[in-house]
Amino acid sequence: MQTDMHYYGVFFLAYTAGLNPQTAHTIAYASQFTDDSLEDHVERNPKEGAAIMAEETAHHALDMENLEPEDQRFIWVPFHFLPGNTGASYHERLICRKDSAVAQEMLEHYLDNCQVSFAPQLFGIAAHVYADTFAHYGFSGVASKLNLAGRESLSYSIAKKGVQKYVDKKMNKFWDRFKDSLDMAVTNLTGSIAGNWTGGLGHAAAATLPDRPFINWELKYQSPDFTVKPPETRSNPDTYLEACEKLHSLFRRFALRRQDLSVEGQYIDFGQMRSGLSKVIRFEGNKEKRIGRWQKLWRDGDFTEQAGGAENAIPSYVPDDWHLQRESFKRMRAPKTMLKKKVYGFYQAASFHKHYVLRELLPSKGLIVI
Ligand SMILES: [Zn+2]
Repeated sequence: MQTDMHYYGVFFLAYTAGLNPQTAHTIAYASQFTDDSLEDHVERNPKEGAAIMAEETAHHALDMENLEPEDQRFIWVPFHFLPGNTGASYHERLICRKDSAVAQEMLEHYLDNCQVSFAPQLFGIAAHVYADTFAHYGFSGVASKLNLAGRESLSYSIAKKGVQKYVDKKMNKFWDRFKDSLDMAVTNLTGSIAGNWTGGLGHAAAATLPDRPFINWELKYQSPDFTVKPPETRSNPDTYLEACEKLHSLFRRFALRRQDLSVEGQYIDFGQMRSGLSKVIRFEGNKEKRIGRWQKLWRDGDFTEQAGGAENAIPSYVPDDWHLQRESFKRMRAPKTMLKKKVYGFYQAASFHKHYVLRELLPSKGLIVI
């Protein structure tokens, strides 16, 4: 998924679930920032010797070839490819599955902990991870032969010629860039040894197809070693709409438990929004145009007044906002001012999430990932 869904869609759903505009914004921002928090360096404040360490929750696409296997496990597994624990072998159980019982257990745990100060950021990260189970299912966050599919087996169809060309171009660029990694993965990867070949990591074999909401596509897995084979025919519009409904209901439950973060009368039943949301998801266009569709849905729904200051639009996503908050730490007269910054809550939430998934949730299923 991309910014249109992880931020704009999530803002829309959190807001219409009854959460106040500030909370909806923090949730949506944290959801998208999970793809943009690429740093793990330490920021120091000279005044008292205090320090904060950024939590890295994604990798820059340009660094993909240089990944260490451990990075895959600390980042891709908990934040983007939550294991579904379905199937027989270890590698099969690491495959992300749509709306898995593991994902639901995670959400229940966060609802039980929804009084923490960083709850909006935690629900933003959870929304990212949960939404990814509707886009990334069928692939795992470690290098595995189960993630491989032949390029010739991949097909997709798009009605608009211009958009088809645009996606073809992006796909070719992806393959040119990762051709060697993909070839190497096909030749070298074994299911029992996790290497660092990007080609066998995540949904590289399907390139960017899982991340575009409007695409229907197909692939053929190369490995015969599945006991529960993931679907090879995929309808992103259907699964993205399903994700929207599930996210809306998650945010509603959060809103009901945190009435201090909610606005009475702001809730809208999902049924009333279904056809509008479906049109936005099915709209064929590049990311910017799709964001435009979310804004149009917002305007047409006339949420402006209720949003109080959102000025006729969903507030734009500006990734630098939280990066600048982090950098301001070194100039703070009182380091504890940092505790009030949204980005600090994001680091708290990311750390909480990573610990819970890798040290509690997955081990409780017998899955040791790192
Ligand atoms: Zn992701």
